[in-house]
Amino acid sequence: MSRPVFATIDQQALKHNLAIVRHAAPGTHVWSVVKANAYGHGLARVWESLAQTDGFALLNMEEAILLRDSGWRKPILLLEGFFHASDLQLIDRYRLTTSIHSNWQINALAEAQLSAPVDVYLKVNSGMNRLGFRPEQVRGAFQKLRALPNTGDITLMAHFADAENPDGLIEPLQRIEQAAEGLNLPRSLSNSACTLWHPEAHYDWIRPGIVLYGASPSGDWQDIASTGLKPVMTLSSEIIGVQQLSPGDGVGYGYRYRAQQAQRIGVVACGYADGYPRHAPSGTPVAVDGHLTQVVGAISMDMITVDLTPCPEAGIGSRVELWGEQVKIDQVAKAAGTVGYELMCALAPRVPVKVI
Ligand SMILES: *Cc1c(COP(=O)(O)O)cnc(C)c1O
Repeated sequence: MSRPVFATIDQQALKHNLAIVRHAAPGTHVWSVVKANAYGHGLARVWESLAQTDGFALLNMEEAILLRDSGWRKPILLLEGFFHASDLQLIDRYRLTTSIHSNWQINALAEAQLSAPVDVYLKVNSGMNRLGFRPEQVRGAFQKLRALPNTGDITLMAHFADAENPDGLIEPLQRIEQAAEGLNLPRSLSNSACTLWHPEAHYDWIRPGIVLYGASPSGDWQDIASTGLKPVMTLSSEIIGVQQLSPGDGVGYGYRYRAQQAQRIGVVACGYADGYPRHAPSGTPVAVDGHLTQVVGAISMDMITVDLTPCPEAGIGSRVELWGEQVKIDQVAKAAGTVGYELMCALAPRVPVKVI
C-alpha cells in the first residue's frame, strides 16, 4: 500500500471556472494561463478541460511543444517571449505568439529566417518595472516591428503591479494610454484580479491564471467567495497515528506546541516534502472526517500533527483534507504567510495525483 497522501484535480471545476471567467468578461478572448505546469496541476492533465479557451499562455518552450504535440492548434502565447534568438526557429515551427519586451528581441526577429510571420505581443512597462518598453519607447518599438516582414499581428500587452487594489490601475492605465496613442492596436492587459475586479481593463484578450484553479488573486478566499469559483486541487491524506497527551506534553520538533489539558492529537501522513508549507503555524485550518480543526506543532518533512478535540470519533485511517473544498488553499497559504499560487505550484512530485 502506498502512502495515503494524494492530490485530486477536478476537471469539472476547471471547466466551470473557465465559464465563470467568460461570464465575468463577456466579449473578450481568453488566454488561459498555464505556466508553471498549469500552476502545479499538471499541464498534460488539465489542458483538455480548458479546451474551450481561445488560447493558452505560458513561459516554457517545452510546455508549448507539449500542447502542440497533444493536438492543440489554436494560439499559444509565450508570456516572457523568447530567451535566445535561436528560440525563434521553434516559435516559427510551432506557430507560437511571442511577447516582445526588449530591443534585442526586435533585432533578433529582424534577422531570423522564418517560414511565415509571427504574431507578437508588444509589452509595455506599466510602471511595474519588470519587463517591457517604457511608454515613450513604445511607438519606436512598434514602428520597427511593423516594418519587419517577420512580424504578423501586433497586440499591446501590459501587466499590473497592484490590480487587487481598487485604485491600482489608475496610473498604469494612464501610462498605457500614453503608449497606445495613435497606434490603434488590440490590447491584452488583464490578469485574474483585473478579470474579476477591473472591467475597464478587459479589452480584447484577458489573461486569467489563478482564478481558473479556483483560488483568489488577492490571497483572501473571502474576496472570491461570491464568484462561484471552485477549488480544482484537493490535497488529502489520512491519520496514521494517534497520541493521547497529558497537560504540559510537547508535540513534534522543538516541542513547538504543548497541551494545556488532556488532548488527543492525530498524526497525518503529509509534510513539507509533499508541498505542505513548513511555515504553517499551530492554528492553521485542516479538516478531519469533515470536521474543521487545526494544525498543532511544527510541520515535519513527512508528517503534521492535528488537534482531534473537535472530532472525537476520528482515529487511524480518518480522512484528512489539507486543502480543497472545505479548507481553502488561500486559508492555508495565508496562515503560512504566503499565497495560494505558491502552494499549488509547489505540490511535490512525490504526491500521486488522481484526476476526477
Ligand atoms: C502569470 C501571469 C498572468 C496570470 O496571472 P494571475 O494572477 O494568475 O491571473 C497574466 N499575465 C502575465 C504576464 C503573467 O505572467
